Amino acid sequence: MTAGPQGTRAMQVEGIPASPGYAEGPLFDLDQPPASYKPKASTEEERAALVNAIGTAVGRLTALVETADGDAAGILEFHIAMLEDDALSGPALAAIGSGQPADAAWRAALDSEIAGYEASDQDYFRARAADLRDIRDQVLRALSEEGEAEAPPGAILYGEDIAPTRFLETDWNKGGGIALKRGSTASHVAMLARSRGVPMVVGLSAPAGPLSSDALLDAERGAIVFSPSPAEVEAFRQSAASFADRQGAARTFLTEPAVTKTGTAVRVQVNIAYPSDVDGIDVATCDGVGLMRTEFLFGKALPDEETQYRAYRKVLEWAGDKPVTIRTVDAGGDKPVPGFTVEETNPFLGLRGIRLSLKRRDIFGVQIRALLRAAIHGNLKVMFPMIATHDEYAQAAALFAEEQSALAAEGVAHKLPPLGIMVEVPSVALAPEDFADVAFLSIGSNDLTQYVMAAARDNAAVAHLNSVRHPAVLRLIASVAAFGQKKGVPVSLCGDAGGDPTTIPALLEAGLRDLSVAPAQLAMAKAAIADVSV
Ligand code: PEP
Ligand code: MG
Repeated sequence: MTAGPQGTRAMQVEGIPASPGYAEGPLFDLDQPPASYKPKASTEEERAALVNAIGTAVGRLTALVETADGDAAGILEFHIAMLEDDALSGPALAAIGSGQPADAAWRAALDSEIAGYEASDQDYFRARAADLRDIRDQVLRALSEEGEAEAPPGAILYGEDIAPTRFLETDWNKGGGIALKRGSTASHVAMLARSRGVPMVVGLSAPAGPLSSDALLDAERGAIVFSPSPAEVEAFRQSAASFADRQGAARTFLTEPAVTKTGTAVRVQVNIAYPSDVDGIDVATCDGVGLMRTEFLFGKALPDEETQYRAYRKVLEWAGDKPVTIRTVDAGGDKPVPGFTVEETNPFLGLRGIRLSLKRRDIFGVQIRALLRAAIHGNLKVMFPMIATHDEYAQAAALFAEEQSALAAEGVAHKLPPLGIMVEVPSVALAPEDFADVAFLSIGSNDLTQYVMAAARDNAAVAHLNSVRHPAVLRLIASVAAFGQKKGVPVSLCGDAGGDPTTIPALLEAGLRDLSVAPAQLAMAKAAIADVSV
């Protein structure tokens, strides 16, 4: 601790960076108590009040969808679908029937749902608790007919967690950031913050600073300073200026192909999760889609063939003749899909990815048909996640051949795309020689690192061990790259490490020349590549 202004004590609290950047400004308390509700005269009126409040919340979200883009619209539509789901309102309406006022009934029903999500040992489900809290508060606000307190421009929004709608309604053009005591780097807001460049830190577990003070949010390192001293402000501004300079310089690289200092070309593709992600990307700035995750399409319900076909076709048409690598569903682990994944004590080592798809051929068959049909609309490549043995690849490839024959017999237009695999299970990275017959290899450094280091990717307590730059992980990456080179099998990397400027030199030195990164990281990744001499 150091001395702050007016005799206050500066206090620094460490957290986990969820979206890089710097913000300096007043703190805004996200945890202000909601406005009070005026009970109605009869059960009927209470019921009508709740139904109307849900309608008001849906109306408000629908209006927001119209101005939202890509992933933001997807999140809002997810909220609307949840609000319109009787399973959510049913218990509250029943409680009103037994004499509770609408606000208490709704709060209790939602709190019990939220508790279920929060108790999950899976990061994905815990992250969805924030969505449910958002929905709860939207309806409570509509019930009390009072607006939400507005944060001053440039404020650092500070609290337990933040609602996605609060994020979307905030004008980030004026600066500001997000500092959460809980939160998750896998939450919807974290995703939005990364794609909009809003600084965000989660997991600030130490006690709150004085909420009346100004604060410094360093979301590059993951820390907040309450009541900073002049020296801290000075040092912070220098770091913020250096970050802005690096970003500004990086933008000039965006429209150019990536090359190293010594002129070696490096392909840089993008990772996407929703088909609408491509709406915000200029196709000229990347070399294609290196990874389209399909788990999110599976969201709440299993998508039918037509829904999947349209989603894949949209991305293929956007990319033109550039490659689009779509990964078959990697459900399980940190990405559970209700109605598909199974409850397991250790989901990272259980039935996830290709293991589950091969068990549920009914569901896998639908995805394969959609992919085969979409393939005629562009330069599609398909890859299988979590391959551990060659037999799994062979089985999956055989299912493609089977569905292809079925489509041919039905006279449905289709095409067999090249089939490759993710290298994210150590068995494949250690013994790639079994896989000389696949069309391509794509290294999943997120999973490869967690399995090599035995450090879960979503556990902050072992984050210091989960390092792709550990020699054991880098050695494996280098040996896979060398194998690909020798056998003429293209090798790329689509884990988060590919977009990390501090890891890029090591990846290129390991022999990789093909990276796939989050769209918001394209510019910084290309700039980092230009600084490497390989
Ligand atoms: C990986 O494991 O590196 C990867 C790209 O896949 P996901 O993060 O979706 O598991
Ligand atoms: Mg993976």
